[in-house]
Amino acid sequence: MSLSELCRRCGLCCDGNLFSHVPLQGSEVEAARRTGLDVVALADGSPAVRQGCTALKDRRCSVYAERPEGCRRYDCRLFNELAGKRVSFEEALAVVAQAHALLSAVERVLGPDTDPRPSSVLERARFADWGEDGGSSSETRAARESAEAFLDRHFHGGPRRFEG
Ligand code: SF4
Ligand code: SF4
Repeated sequence: MSLSELCRRCGLCCDGNLFSHVPLQGSEVEAARRTGLDVVALADGSPAVRQGCTALKDRRCSVYAERPEGCRRYDCRLFNELAGKRVSFEEALAVVAQAHALLSAVERVLGPDTDPRPSSVLERARFADWGEDGGSSSETRAARESAEAFLDRHFHGGPRRFEG
């Protein structure tokens, strides 16, 4: 099995659960808009693509040949472990499956997404905690923290950004 096959079954670095934004070079803004990416300005004024990415379809990048440099450069920790043959493909797939299961557990306690704009499960869970109604339930918080700890352990590292 190829490295890219792992990504085709994962999609977590594009769906907003690992990152909120992919930084863009100024020269990439026009092309990113043309391909339908959600280009926004970050707090420091720099351009970025908002995640979950509008180009992610069925866990695959639908603009792969034209994806921004920040996407091309990014490999997560698990991808590097597989590339370095420190985990087998089956072990890496099991990690991806566990990550999706933990996110599904968060989604179950959060309930259905009523916002018309797609948001990642963890983004919704964090907003629930920051909300004016005093925050989310302890069950939601525990499920979110468990998923975040697992993603931190197995996936994080690299230059994409998280901004609240
Ligand atoms: S998080 Fe890692 S394994 Fe998943 S799609 Fe991104 S690079 Fe591939
Ligand atoms: S452009 Fe493609 S690779 Fe980049 S964040 Fe969007 S779906 Fe992922």
